[in-house]
Amino acid sequence: MTKHSNDQRQAREGGRDIRSAKMLRRKLQWLIAIVVACTGVLATEIIAASYSDFVVARRNLAEVMAFCRILDAATYLSAERGPANGVMGVGVAAGSPVEARLVEFRARSDAALAEIIAGATDGSRPEPGTALLPILAEVQRRLEVARNEIDRIAATPPERRDLRDIQNAIEGMFAVIDAMRPAFDWNIQRLTNTDPDLAGIAIAAHMLANLREDGGRLASQLMAPVAVGKPLEAKNIADSERTRGRLQEIWSVVGKPGALPGLKPKNIADIAAIEHEFFGEGFAIIDSIVSVGRNSGNYPVTAEQLTDRYVPKMKPLEILRRDFMDATVERLANSKTQASVKLAIATIATFALFIVLLVLMRRARSLVFEPLLLARHSIIELANDRPITRLTGKGGEGEMGRLFDAIDVLRLRLDERALLMKHLERQAETDELTGLLNRRALELIGGAEDASGSDKNACLILMDIDHFKQINDTYGHLVGDIVLKETARIIRYSVRSSDLVARFGGEEFAVITPGDDLEAACALAERIRANLARAPITFADGQELTVTASFGVAGANANPGWKGLIESADTELYRAKSEGRNRVCG
Ligand code: GH3
Ligand code: MG
Ligand code: MG
Repeated sequence: MTKHSNDQRQAREGGRDIRSAKMLRRKLQWLIAIVVACTGVLATEIIAASYSDFVVARRNLAEVMAFCRILDAATYLSAERGPANGVMGVGVAAGSPVEARLVEFRARSDAALAEIIAGATDGSRPEPGTALLPILAEVQRRLEVARNEIDRIAATPPERRDLRDIQNAIEGMFAVIDAMRPAFDWNIQRLTNTDPDLAGIAIAAHMLANLREDGGRLASQLMAPVAVGKPLEAKNIADSERTRGRLQEIWSVVGKPGALPGLKPKNIADIAAIEHEFFGEGFAIIDSIVSVGRNSGNYPVTAEQLTDRYVPKMKPLEILRRDFMDATVERLANSKTQASVKLAIATIATFALFIVLLVLMRRARSLVFEPLLLARHSIIELANDRPITRLTGKGGEGEMGRLFDAIDVLRLRLDERALLMKHLERQAETDELTGLLNRRALELIGGAEDASGSDKNACLILMDIDHFKQINDTYGHLVGDIVLKETARIIRYSVRSSDLVARFGGEEFAVITPGDDLEAACALAERIRANLARAPITFADGQELTVTASFGVAGANANPGWKGLIESADTELYRAKSEGRNRVCG
């Protein structure tokens, strides 16, 4: 194969090598992109789920707390009735402590209502409770009417106070709570919509709030006759009986341990306290008022005293409701915290996963894929006889290192083989006896010159030792060999470095001398002849032998081509032999 087509093949293979390396890299990049994308989708799903859990938990907590505020406000409004009833009673002097308490309780109710209104218009909530505003406006309107009536009665001298007016004022306060009911309903509905799990809590809380409200009503419904010291009317007794029935009904539902979801074990005591203090002692107070009031207005207590004795009996009702709501809020706050912790963990874990993935991919690329590409490239280069750098130590300690070591061993073996090949090639072109080029090498050089068509001219000298057969016959073959070696040494010594010397066969030698100067070539032949004839060969035993040779020289004007050159030189050599030997012809 010629050098030109060899270069083309190597260039083609180099291009293929680069292309397939690029393709491998692109495949790797696609693989990384797919893995990262799949991980991203999974991570987004997990984070989105955690985030939505967190949002639900946060919203549930906010909604339940808003509901608590409404229940608190209703409790304060109910509680306000206590001192209100007190100030309307007979025998309450101006500046009595109950008046101060009324002022304090009213301020507390007003603050609670103001807080709900502020919360309802708070734009930061997902759905502001603007639906509450008209309800609360009605509550405030009724509250103002009832409070004005109470204040008017309180300002009237006790003896001029009218039972009917007091009754109306008390019912006016009931009407305030009644106006509040749509707010409860709206809020329960909203909690149920937010999370069906909250419906049970909302209804239980509402029932507990009703318990406190009806507990207050039970006494308030008897309060007007007590305040003015008149016997109970049929309506008072009937209302009170109805309220008592409702209380027992509600209690039969919520008053059992386990009926209130999430109530803490320590608050079970609240239930026992209600049984004992409210349904026991509180009902006994009501019973004693009813039994007196059926016949006369000679109550053993004033309205203020009745309030003072009765209101503490309702305390456990408030405590139970508050404990229940506190437990609920605490539970929801915990689940909100858990949700935010889960969200944080999911986010951090996802982030960590991405980093680990990227590091792994990079490591895989630098520890596996890049070395494999390098190994592949190196093997192809070695196969194409191109030099590669030393790979030992590049692949680290592991499998890659061993692969590179193996490639290095391959490289060393190939180098050794190339050296051997060179040696064999040289051997094939060298004559063993004289160390000169052999006939084959000479023919190759001549053939190559012919093929290249070069116009570089050269002259050929063919020489033949005279009567060599005789030397062999006289002195033996070994001496003949020594003569051949000595003759070769003398030829080498006589020519220039640019001249090529070969053993042409037997006792014949050839010298190729560059240039077309035939005379110079003849002069060179003459120099060799003279050197040979002048220096007799001395053997180990001191014997001397003078050897001569005949020379035929041919140049550019000879027959064309390598063969022609040889033929011409051979003809001249024949002439030299026949003209008497030991001479040059050309
Ligand atoms: P001429 O002057 O006409 O050239 O006579 P010659 O005797 O030199 O020519 P011939 O061709 O008759 O003899 C050549 C001899 O060279 C014959 C052969 O045995 C001998 N010969 C050829 N190669 C070697 C070799 O390698 N070593 C030895 N010792 N002799 C060789
Ligand atoms: Mg011969
Ligand atoms: Mg001869």
